[in-house]
Amino acid sequence: MDFVNSPAADTDRAHNRLSAWPARWPAGHQRLSILGATGSIGTSTLDLVGRFPEAFRIVALTAHTDTAKLAAAAIAHRAQLAVVANPAGYRDLKSRLAGTGIEPAAGPAALEDAASRPADCVVAAIVGAAGIVPTFAAVRQGRRVALANKECLVTAGSIFMAAVAASGTELLPVDSEHSAAFQAIGGADPATIERITLTASGGPFRTWDLARLSAVTPEQALAHPTWSMGPKISIDSATLMNKSLELIEAYYLFPVEAGQLDVVVHPQSIIHCLVAYRDGSVLAQLANPDMRTPIAFSLAYPSRMPAPTTRLDLVKLGSLSFEAPDLARFPAVGLAHQVLKSGGGAPAILNAANEVAVASFLARRIGFLDIATIVAKCLDMAERDSLLMAPQSLDDVLEIDRRARQLARNVIGEGALPVP
Ligand code: NDP
Repeated sequence: MDFVNSPAADTDRAHNRLSAWPARWPAGHQRLSILGATGSIGTSTLDLVGRFPEAFRIVALTAHTDTAKLAAAAIAHRAQLAVVANPAGYRDLKSRLAGTGIEPAAGPAALEDAASRPADCVVAAIVGAAGIVPTFAAVRQGRRVALANKECLVTAGSIFMAAVAASGTELLPVDSEHSAAFQAIGGADPATIERITLTASGGPFRTWDLARLSAVTPEQALAHPTWSMGPKISIDSATLMNKSLELIEAYYLFPVEAGQLDVVVHPQSIIHCLVAYRDGSVLAQLANPDMRTPIAFSLAYPSRMPAPTTRLDLVKLGSLSFEAPDLARFPAVGLAHQVLKSGGGAPAILNAANEVAVASFLARRIGFLDIATIVAKCLDMAERDSLLMAPQSLDDVLEIDRRARQLARNVIGEGALPVP
């Protein structure tokens, strides 16, 4: 029988190809809310959304203080609600939105309202611990959450994942490494996974020695070689603390033990994560470093939407390189395994101490190397003072976060710190 020329066989092939597709995109329009719409992730998300106006309806957009950018985005994308978290911005937001029909609101309760309004997906892209409460609100309402904010998982991993399970919602990681792991794992049996390796670019100071690192300025640390990101995560990428935060995220997201997670430095940021299986296979996801790829994945899942990113050209790239992270120069990357071993509130303490230290570095009150030193010192002091009890609720997490910030401020007030 000639399969190739048989019209019946062609019909079957077409049918099989179609039925093998998990979902068509766009399937009508998706109602979307974006928490942190004025930031790097929020702007990239709106860039994608703006290219496909028939595929999305914007329910709510939020910002912290940038009312000009928030109002412009709300008008351009015809949002229903625009929320500025800082109540001082309300009057300005209201006047910018006058006559547009877009509802202005301000303050923490309005932020939770924005996260809770009926939507098909909430993009959680507020930076820092400020994103925890609204993201929890979205999860509790059973909204699908495209999660960029790391702090929900880092500070409240077990509680957050329990809330996700209880509401039966879908959680889609936006962080490129976790999006890559999610894709490489697919529906695999967890027992078959041997190892998950997150890649790290190594940041702008990958080859610098300790003497040069001690003199790094905020401007130098903000200039990331491969990724364009907000200021906090850019500093975390330079210290490699970002990889510690990501290891903790991965621990809560994926069915592996802490000992099955590791990091490899890969300066080109083309491979985002590798998942090794017990038969020796390693599955990886590759893409040029552009957050619109993982954002697009989370918006269209289980289908895929077009993203206007530069396509990968392996021949042009020529080679990809890999090296082990240097824990002596970048001690932050080693802290994840320490806090996962300590358990309890240790990840929340790491996160809060780091946020305080990064803000102090950006304000030029401490040096670049002090960041990891301060975080390590806060963890030691918390352990010594029995502050590592496991949080049982979101309120416990917020209390640990508050205490850890105070601890970090005290430590920073102690004066000069030794170079690690
Ligand atoms: P940005 O600093 O660029 O943006 C942060 C957003 O959060 C802004 O909309 C900002 O509003 C808002 N915001 C800041 N503080 C508060 C607050 N106290 N209350 C309410 N809203 C607030 O951050 P990124 O977009 O870079 O990062 C967002 C999150 O995504 C972070 O958790 C980061 O770790 C994570 N992430 C980011 C990646 C990236 O490539 N940028 C990659 C992977 C993860 P305003 O503009 O008014 O200040």
